[in-house]
Amino acid sequence: MPLHDKYGRPITDLRLSITDRCNYKCVYCRTGNEGALYGDLPFEDYLRMVRVLVDMGITKIRLTGGEPLLRKGVVEFVGELAKLEPQGLKPHPPSGSNGTAKAVPFPNSDPLDIALTTNGHLLADLAQPLKSAGLTRVTVSMDAVDPDRFTRITRVPGGFDHVLAGIRAARRAGLWPLKVNCVLMRGFNEDQIIPFGMFAREEGVIVRFIEFMPLEEDRVWSPATVVTLDEILARMAEYRPLVEIPHARSETARRYRFDDGVGEIGIIAPVSHPFCGHCSRIRITSDGKIRTCLFSVWDHDLHGQMQGGASDEELAEFIRGVVQKKEERHHIGEPDFVPASRTMVHIGG
Ligand code: SAM
Repeated sequence: MPLHDKYGRPITDLRLSITDRCNYKCVYCRTGNEGALYGDLPFEDYLRMVRVLVDMGITKIRLTGGEPLLRKGVVEFVGELAKLEPQGLKPHPPSGSNGTAKAVPFPNSDPLDIALTTNGHLLADLAQPLKSAGLTRVTVSMDAVDPDRFTRITRVPGGFDHVLAGIRAARRAGLWPLKVNCVLMRGFNEDQIIPFGMFAREEGVIVRFIEFMPLEEDRVWSPATVVTLDEILARMAEYRPLVEIPHARSETARRYRFDDGVGEIGIIAPVSHPFCGHCSRIRITSDGKIRTCLFSVWDHDLHGQMQGGASDEELAEFIRGVVQKKEERHHIGEPDFVPASRTMVHIGG
């Protein structure tokens, strides 16, 4: 049976955190020192988890963290992942009247889609080795195109040039599509919207704006701090008209092109336009816990099962049970909202 949750959503997408350490201290994410709170596992343990999940229908893996490029051996790990053969799941029919999709298995000759989310600080030297090892694509987080503003957000001086060099190295290495993610937080970088539109056109990257979610360590989120999809569109229209591009239902971003065809931007709007009905994701934290939603208030100890001697079949059974508990949706901004039991840096975004 393909992996799906009790609402009929196919689960095809794994976000795997390989460390919860980070070398940046972005205002919307984390604070404190560089140390990890939960720690990480040997790559062979992650590889076994991924192998079991790929046999259950996972076709896309995104490595994340913390900062995944801080892990020594990440290139070799990507090489091992690239040897796995996905089974494949195809949503069918594309969408039901209730907004959900059923999944059917199909023979899949496509290789595993292996993506990476990074702050880009260490990417310049690693882009080509990662590509050669089998990485399909990369997303770089960058929250300002102005270097001083960038430092105010990351709270680490001198990073901007490293990140820009990383983005350009990724493009040269052929890691495509190359996406640049910008979390907008009012009072910090909403004036960067138009400069990022120009950046997308000049650098040939897809810039994606993300609405700020209440997942940060400093607990500064409020509805007023969120720069919404509507506001981003209105601001960008002052620069150039945008034309919406159709996007896959499971895709998190709404996509737009500039009217002259040069440059693409995306907007990920989990706060103002939630997309939980099409969520195909589960997450594994750096310490081996499954999380079924960013906003879960509990997690499920997959690594504990492994340490207890579970066979691959028993792990698969455990995973199936966990996926059945996937939350229907998040409750951001509602009176019954309960903060997630971990902040973003310790989940893996
Ligand atoms: N260190 C890597 C990076 O910077 O991309 C990977 C981990 S980071 C937690 C993953 C993504 O989560 C980044 O794109 C980051 O901007 C985003 N993120 C972190 N905190 C967020 C928040 N409170 N709301 C929305 N996005 C957030």
